Amino acid sequence: MPPTLFGIDKARSLYISTKSLKLASIPPLDITDRISMLSVAAGLRPVGLLEAEGLQLSQVRDALIDVGIFTWIASSREGDKVLWLATNAEDRKRLKGTSPSEEEIGRSLSYPECCVQDNEVRNNVLYTQPDDAMEALKNVPRSAEKFLFVSHVACSGCLNSEESPTAMMNSQLSSLVQEIDSRMHEVALAIAEATGELQDEGQRSQTIQKIMRLHQSLFSGKSAI
Ligand SMILES: [Zn+2]
Repeated sequence: MPPTLFGIDKARSLYISTKSLKLASIPPLDITDRISMLSVAAGLRPVGLLEAEGLQLSQVRDALIDVGIFTWIASSREGDKVLWLATNAEDRKRLKGTSPSEEEIGRSLSYPECCVQDNEVRNNVLYTQPDDAMEALKNVPRSAEKFLFVSHVACSGCLNSEESPTAMMNSQLSSLVQEIDSRMHEVALAIAEATGELQDEGQRSQTIQKIMRLHQSLFSGKSAI
């Protein structure tokens, strides 16, 4: 595919060429990384980061390069391989070979400033007051359920407003996915809903099977909904 496609056409072309590749074995992470990649290709943000364990990373990288996206592999703080992507060479030059702080990563990925700050506070609590971890992490499942199309954890302000920066970003990404493949949109919603049901311990193994089945349906083309 020539690297002259723009916006939605570029995202659609990337979606098709990576459709059979698994980005992560954990379904919600695979969906998050896929949407993250498409948002960069569509031009909704200049830089993206695929954080899952990098299944089939080299094929994904080839597909990104084919649509004219700049990529580089780096190590996460945990030592895992992650794949950065950018729509312009300047961002790659600025970030490649550096060890950006979490705050810098959040800003590079166009996360709302309120959520970047909130993430700093949360990390600080986790490192210094582990007894308060449950309270500090309370927004994580809420955010994943309410704003399933974004890759960051929304702050309380964003979670409590329908017009917050995260709410707007989520709706923009939701429309993008809907436009590229309405079935993927449906599967993403169903996986997020089922992930919320994991809290029911008695149903856990059935729920996990349901999530895996839904995820698999993205690759097989057969409906699981
Ligand atoms: Zn926020």
